[in-house]
Amino acid sequence: MPKKIQSSALLREETGYVMQLQNFSVNDGEGIRTTIFLCGCPLHCIWCCNPENMAYRDKAHKMTLQEVEAVVSRQALFFRRCDGGITFSGGEATIQQGFLRSMTERFYDKGYKLSIETCGYFNFEQVRDILEKMDLIFFDLKLMDDRLHQSFTGVSNQIIKENLKKVGQLGIPLVVRIPVIVGVNAFENNIHATCSFLQKYVPEAKLEFLPYHKLGMDKYEKLGMPTPDEQYESIRKEDIAVSGFSFAARMTTPSEELLSAFSDIARAYHIDTISFR
Ligand code: SF4
Repeated sequence: MPKKIQSSALLREETGYVMQLQNFSVNDGEGIRTTIFLCGCPLHCIWCCNPENMAYRDKAHKMTLQEVEAVVSRQALFFRRCDGGITFSGGEATIQQGFLRSMTERFYDKGYKLSIETCGYFNFEQVRDILEKMDLIFFDLKLMDDRLHQSFTGVSNQIIKENLKKVGQLGIPLVVRIPVIVGVNAFENNIHATCSFLQKYVPEAKLEFLPYHKLGMDKYEKLGMPTPDEQYESIRKEDIAVSGFSFAARMTTPSEELLSAFSDIARAYHIDTISFR
């Protein structure tokens, strides 16, 4: 069963849970940026490189808006020189909607350029005001087939696809990101389905392929969680019958040739690819 997104009034919170504040980041938007990784995520992707981040009520990660602002303010000189700014990431930044809103409003008022990277699983109307203050939105689209999406991330992709359409209507530059994982989503039918969807609903979006790398695997053992490879093994293969999909021995990094072939597919749909890596 897909998880439900609870609705509530718009929130503002002065404290939140921050996994990491990364200065001098260059992969999540234009120029030199500070990326604010917020804790918590509604998805459970089996390849996640930050498994400790899925839950977030850890006091060690609690920060106030003032504390975050103090770190960001010291980077303002670099933002101005390099056309950089702040990127909200996670986990899933919108899961801490109140704290995200408070930070967004504060930094927007200060004139910083803002980006967000989202998994797309949120209540759109509850975060619309936040998204509207962004200069660039990175939106993950992992798998087009819903059965596969549920098996590999724990949730349906229906909300995500609907939200992508709505985000596309905001008129804000949009980059759709696909984490390309052999054995999960790196098959032609998925890329064709993705590009067809983008062409139809968000034709202005750019597409970024992010090759999967096995990072953070030791964290699973430390947390006593099954590793990504173990989770991959345990997915009920007989439940998944999707045209073009076949299980691999394990999840692996795509080759340059495969990524290049996927870029060719995108081009055939008149979709521009981009890389911030
Ligand atoms: S959406 Fe990202 S942070 Fe959340 S579980 Fe998936 S990979 Fe991890």
